[in-house]
Amino acid sequence: MRKYILLLFLSAFGIFCVAQDKYILLKPDRVFDGEQMQTGWVVLVKNNKIEQAGAMMFKLPPGTPVIELKGMTLLPGLIEGHSHLFLHPYNETSWDDQVLKESRAERTARAVNHAKATLMAGFTTVRDLGTEGAMYDDVGLKTVIEKNIIPGPRMIVSTRAIVATGSYGPKLSADNESARGAAEADGEDALIREIRTQIGKGADFIKIYADYRWGMNKEAQPTFTFDELKKAVEVTQSSGRKLVVHAVTPEAMKRATLAGVATIEHGDKGTEEVFKLMKEKNVALCATLSAAESILKYDGWKKGVDKEPQRITDKKKSFQLAVKTGVTICMGGDVGVFAHGDNAKEMELMVEYGMKPIDVLRSATSVNADVFGYADKIGRIKKDLVADIIAVEGDPSIDINNIRKIKLVMKDGVIYKQSND
Ligand SMILES: [Zn+2]
Repeated sequence: MRKYILLLFLSAFGIFCVAQDKYILLKPDRVFDGEQMQTGWVVLVKNNKIEQAGAMMFKLPPGTPVIELKGMTLLPGLIEGHSHLFLHPYNETSWDDQVLKESRAERTARAVNHAKATLMAGFTTVRDLGTEGAMYDDVGLKTVIEKNIIPGPRMIVSTRAIVATGSYGPKLSADNESARGAAEADGEDALIREIRTQIGKGADFIKIYADYRWGMNKEAQPTFTFDELKKAVEVTQSSGRKLVVHAVTPEAMKRATLAGVATIEHGDKGTEEVFKLMKEKNVALCATLSAAESILKYDGWKKGVDKEPQRITDKKKSFQLAVKTGVTICMGGDVGVFAHGDNAKEMELMVEYGMKPIDVLRSATSVNADVFGYADKIGRIKKDLVADIIAVEGDPSIDINNIRKIKLVMKDGVIYKQSND
């Protein structure tokens, strides 16, 4: 009987414990708070939120477990600004074959693995910019992650993305219609309907291709007119969302900037005039340096051995020009073109192409959160934001490669990875 009472007492106590707030204290060598590197800081997590961040001036709730992170830097969970969780590297399977020959089941199964790899690499949020033929499956993937059915990052999704008729692939022969990698819509009426359809299906963002490789010599040329882009921005913004564009030509970048988009993806051929305009209109650049590097490597370029391809030299120049002009720089690599989990490659290239490591850390945290409109939730180590926190060995503001040495991954207050080796 006494045993029974004790058991009853313990289970009641258990229930009592569950109802209690859960605290964790993190003690690293230094904290990158999303803006500055801070020393002498600790971070107290309460349930899924950051309760305190700063010097240990507060009273610790009794029994709070302490995680010592000696030699490590604590950072906000990294934000991947340009991912495609439904794609995998093109040297494994070409983009055409992924869109045309892989079943949706296969693509989803792969995306589940990609989501896990992304989270374990310290990227606790992704802005996923198009399922490339996998319809609205990003919305489903986001939902199963939110329901804790599979591990993965927070997802900001754009569903199918929108292209002008005739511009996008895959392209078979002229008399053979294939599935498209994005939704085609032209003219203001069709664009309005497509944008609202995607919003209805769960899009957090709308992505439009303002240019594409459909010129006479397969070079990039603008697709949508200025009026079409302007209308698309108006319709998207009136729903409280942001519109982003794929653009590499100065003309499409200019049209998009004047139309009021939030970010320009790629921006390869940006000129001084365009970058000045982007700065003036507060349009950010997500340069996706890794995409070009990866594709050239798949074509046989041996980096460090072969001569630098002209495309890379040009990309370096335009990126440096954007940085010098003061354009807001997001961090996003177009991951999917290269392996998920290797997201840090973009951060390393941003440093290689001329940005300071501390600025790259800002891009991957607070800048992305601000530009994407999620600053009230993620991107900083700050009281009341969600506890998306990582720890890496060493100091990534001195050597950006340290961002790969992930020792702790916490998302929404839950620890997904913790290692001391
Ligand atoms: Zn992309």
